Amino acid sequence: SKHGRFQQNHMLKWLESKWTRPMAMDAMPVDEGSLNPISQMELSLSEAPDGNHTAAIEMAACQSPEAESIYVARRILRQIREEGMRFNQTAVLVRSLPAYQEIIRHTFDRYGIPCFIDHRESVAHHPLVELTRCVLRLPAFGWTHDDWFTYLKTGLTDLIEAEIDDLENAAIERGWRGLRWWNPLKGPEDLVNRFEPIRRKLLKPIKTFLGKSDHDSETKMPLPWNGIQLAAAFRKLWKTLNIEYRLETWDESAFHSPKPNIQDGFHIRVLEVLEAWLLNFELAFAETPLPIREWIPIVDAGLNNLTVGVIPPAIDQVLVGAIDRSRNPDLKSTYLMGLNESVFPAKPTAPMVFDELERLQLENAGVHIGSRYRTQLATERFLGYIGCTRATEHLTLSYALNTSEGKAQAPSVFIQHVKRIFPQLKIHSFNERIDLSAALHERELLISPEFWRWKKGQSEAVLSQILPNMDSRITLSSISQHTGKATNQPLNGVIARHLYSESRTSPTLYTSVSRIEAFAECPFRFFVQSGLKTEERMAFELDARRLGSFQHAALEAFHMALEDEGLRWRDLTPSQARELMEQITSQTMKDFHEGLMEDKPVNRVTASALSQALGTFVAVIVEWMSHYTFEPIGVEVAFGGKEPQIPAWEIQLSDDTKMVFNGIIDRVDLCTREGQSSWAIVIDYKSGKKKPDEILSWNGVQLQLPVYLNVLRQPDAGASIEAKHIQPAGAFFTTLRAKHEGKSSRKEALDPDTSIDSMRKAYQHVGCFDISALDAMDQREGANRGEQFQYQLNKNGAPRKTNWHVMSPAKFDHFLYRTRDLLKEFGQRIFEGDLSIAPYQQSQQTPCQKCDYASVCRIDPWTQQWRQLEPACYGEFNDGKEA
Ligand code: SF4
Repeated sequence: SKHGRFQQNHMLKWLESKWTRPMAMDAMPVDEGSLNPISQMELSLSEAPDGNHTAAIEMAACQSPEAESIYVARRILRQIREEGMRFNQTAVLVRSLPAYQEIIRHTFDRYGIPCFIDHRESVAHHPLVELTRCVLRLPAFGWTHDDWFTYLKTGLTDLIEAEIDDLENAAIERGWRGLRWWNPLKGPEDLVNRFEPIRRKLLKPIKTFLGKSDHDSETKMPLPWNGIQLAAAFRKLWKTLNIEYRLETWDESAFHSPKPNIQDGFHIRVLEVLEAWLLNFELAFAETPLPIREWIPIVDAGLNNLTVGVIPPAIDQVLVGAIDRSRNPDLKSTYLMGLNESVFPAKPTAPMVFDELERLQLENAGVHIGSRYRTQLATERFLGYIGCTRATEHLTLSYALNTSEGKAQAPSVFIQHVKRIFPQLKIHSFNERIDLSAALHERELLISPEFWRWKKGQSEAVLSQILPNMDSRITLSSISQHTGKATNQPLNGVIARHLYSESRTSPTLYTSVSRIEAFAECPFRFFVQSGLKTEERMAFELDARRLGSFQHAALEAFHMALEDEGLRWRDLTPSQARELMEQITSQTMKDFHEGLMEDKPVNRVTASALSQALGTFVAVIVEWMSHYTFEPIGVEVAFGGKEPQIPAWEIQLSDDTKMVFNGIIDRVDLCTREGQSSWAIVIDYKSGKKKPDEILSWNGVQLQLPVYLNVLRQPDAGASIEAKHIQPAGAFFTTLRAKHEGKSSRKEALDPDTSIDSMRKAYQHVGCFDISALDAMDQREGANRGEQFQYQLNKNGAPRKTNWHVMSPAKFDHFLYRTRDLLKEFGQRIFEGDLSIAPYQQSQQTPCQKCDYASVCRIDPWTQQWRQLEPACYGEFNDGKEA
């Protein structure tokens, strides 16, 4: 029989035979020779889509296209589990794939249904297409960094991945860009030896592409080419790069990969498509010479539209495709989705040349070109027939009551059409609210309050009672994967020792104060930074870090210049200090970081503003010297490291582990005292305003100032800075980029005579100090409020209650010892492998706001339990005694 396919299925057989002339099935007289009677049971099955059997034909109205895809996914799972259906005997068909493709892909992915989306793959971003684009863009847009590295990262050049990464880092750091690539590299010898061969290797194919044709010697831009010349240049480039061989190798390795995620022979088909496109390109533009820049939009338009058909793999997957494209003769079950008005049948498109009336007039005049409208409707009807008669056992028709945006929409005429043939067929409604007892997949549990009650132990039911439909393979542990929080398991101690130290016998953590502050903020942040050794990529840009280095370099040069002359800071007047600083910055600008400050006009303007600000800064400091008995005796003082001026600070953590601090102190000021140890003050330059916070210091989040003071307190610290014994007096932050306050004009603010006045407050030093050193720090008669240093005293000479940072000697000692104890505790926890994701929160502040590792730890600020910091307990000031 010509209906042999449907011998097992009367309903589908009836649907196929009555599609063009609909006739209700139950109204038909039974002809035993040709058609078996439809049993009452068969019809009733169609009323129970969630029962134990699947009906031959089902219809469902869903809330949205997303709900439709969930409905389909659930039906497929049922058929697989209960009826022995295979994924590759099932297809999901839609009228237009782009509208449904991602919805279906996501849903099926969630439900673990393997699917093959039958479409033509765009090759607009295939590496060969990117490479072809880039070689045009390179000369056209001045050899930009992005174009160079997009070209290299296609993986189709002779450079290997590690070489490209190294080269990119060096190029960003050294500012190698534009036409610099055409000339031998300059810079430190080892870098040049390393990268010059790579540069030559990368330039070779580009030179082949440009050929010996005339080009502008300055920009290396070729003179206008016609289509034939351009196509020949592309072919030459592909040949030089041995593209065919490379693409074959890619296909080969994709084929042998354990998880092939790409079509067999896909890459080589891309080359074939591109070659075919080049032939058309030559024909179309044979005689048109154009400058290279004008070829870009033309070539782009061509490349963007290239597609390659994807071949279905021979594995067990559900076919998802468009009705007019997908072919699969062996389907048992078909899901026809998106049966909505104007979706399927699709709305007729507007005619390109003649409208319906004109076609009618032409027909009356004897020219028969047919009605486009009618042809389109007939095609849609035919596609409806194809979609409904593809499967041999099950057909499911579904439509959405609303679009994804929530706009109401009507069902398609095909729904009515099928209803006319099967009047008894019920249309089931489906929304996404799934009863827990009907759950088919663990993902459905997550949206069920009943499940969460069970999980929290608030439900009496046992899992097998509440989940009767779950696949027996799904275990509690697989459910926990989706519901459990990431645990903060520590690293094994042995691994931690290997990670943080090179020595096996006496593990030593060499670190800096900022890294330990990161541990105090969040141990996981420290682990990523110091354990996994992630590093920020350096760029040849005047960013905040480089600006800071420039300022530090200038202040160091200022101090060295005075030392060379045998002068002290206080020997200069404010205007002399400013003048000297301006001379120094103009020299520093030239030498700084291979000319970075003069690289661009904007850098020169920034450098000149910095120079003025530094001039004002030293002028203000020098002016304060009249009542400040300390003298700067060291700048950029290194402790630990390769050339230490002060020994590194070591903290013994256990019998065999220790922690060693290295770093650089921006400035040390000393006040020598007859017969006593010298007072020392540490100044730390900041680019913004920063002040010590009592709670952050107590909890180890702000350690910089007390660590520096502890470094100076070491017995042999004074030797290199010409002091026998040092007694820390205080440590302060001061900004280098202060803002003018309360000036009526820019001119007034920049006037050297008024700027010192206005900047005193802005440059005020903020930090912690021992009150017994105050007389040496501020010798102004009867002052009870600091100008250079921030403090306020009561009438009795004691600091105000809010001045926690003005400390009695005992409190100051406690402050320094507490730091050492905290560091010891942190060091021990690091070697025990603590890598907990435990960021603190104080007021609204968390370290995550400025952390680069959120993508690594995957923190969710909405659900994170923040660690609360302990209140500080340094003790109260009480006339020099602790309360
Ligand atoms: S983002 Fe927050 S939780 Fe994540 S590593 Fe950084 S500080 Fe820690």
